Amino acid sequence: MVQEIRSRLVALASKSDAYTAVLMQGSGTFCVESAITTLLPKEGAKLLVLTNGAYGERIAEIAAYASIPCVTCNVEETTTFSLEAVEYLLQNDPSITAIAVVHCETTTGILNPIFEVAKLSKAYHKLLIVDAMSSFGGIPIDLDALDADVLISSANKCIQGVPGFGFMLFKKKILKRCFGNARSLSLDAYAQYKTMEEGGGKWRFTSPTHVVHAFIEALYELEEEGGVEARYTRYCTNQRLLIEGMEALNFECVIDQTLQSPIITSFYSPNHTSYDFKEFYLRLKHKGFVIYPGKVSNIESFRIGTIGHVFPEDIARLLKAVQEAIFW
Ligand SMILES: *Cc1c(COP(=O)(O)O)cnc(C)c1O
Repeated sequence: MVQEIRSRLVALASKSDAYTAVLMQGSGTFCVESAITTLLPKEGAKLLVLTNGAYGERIAEIAAYASIPCVTCNVEETTTFSLEAVEYLLQNDPSITAIAVVHCETTTGILNPIFEVAKLSKAYHKLLIVDAMSSFGGIPIDLDALDADVLISSANKCIQGVPGFGFMLFKKKILKRCFGNARSLSLDAYAQYKTMEEGGGKWRFTSPTHVVHAFIEALYELEEEGGVEARYTRYCTNQRLLIEGMEALNFECVIDQTLQSPIITSFYSPNHTSYDFKEFYLRLKHKGFVIYPGKVSNIESFRIGTIGHVFPEDIARLLKAVQEAIFW
């Protein structure tokens, strides 16, 4: 089952033989940490992290914990990076060896331009790490074209499995050079790769068996739906209906439509003096909908996700619930 999962994961994004999938116990962050601390050598590595939200910042924090020299290209949470600024950093600091970028920055729902970043990483011969946690399986990604060295995601986002493990799509020829890099025994992705390869899908330590069973079912469901393209279309429809309905109720999106992903959407809080997020949240929860608090630093906002086993009928029910919940 593990071997089938591994090959299906690679096939979702790549038609070549260049990539391999390594599964790792834990939540998504464990995999980001595993990928970074396995990919980057103990000596001579320096990571450039592009940050416009909490998940980019978390990558920088992972580097700090692992004592990996790190610089950030930090822009406001409501915008994406200027590629000129990234290139300037690469030109002026040749000691940078790797770039990390978040695809869908779930903090806001912004979609960052990973293909443009990949062009820079290739032009300057840097390793490329892509956190595609909240996009992989829900937004088509051509990994052969992207040519990332590692792309990371987890069981419970767009693949719609249950939480318990994550996965890393590593470029094989890069991973094979990563012996001895890991700063942590349990998060050694190279050792996990070896065990999975040589043991026919064996995990090094206790495997999350029930989660694995649920995940292969989730992969079958993805295939039955019509694959990543079909799921992307459904998420886009969900999100378009959500935005149209919310705008009709006088809510305003925080992120410009040109940068907005179909995964999660940030809305400005209503400016009624009596609006209270907690009360709004509880009213919606009472009607069966759980929304997210805002995560943008200087803006009063809340977020609504449109991924998962969610369909236009659910969005219609949600919009009705919001309409009923906004009397202040
Ligand atoms: C969800 C998510 C993660 C990982 O979060 P966990 O809580 O550890 O599963 C990392 N990056 C992004 C962009 C995410 O959306």
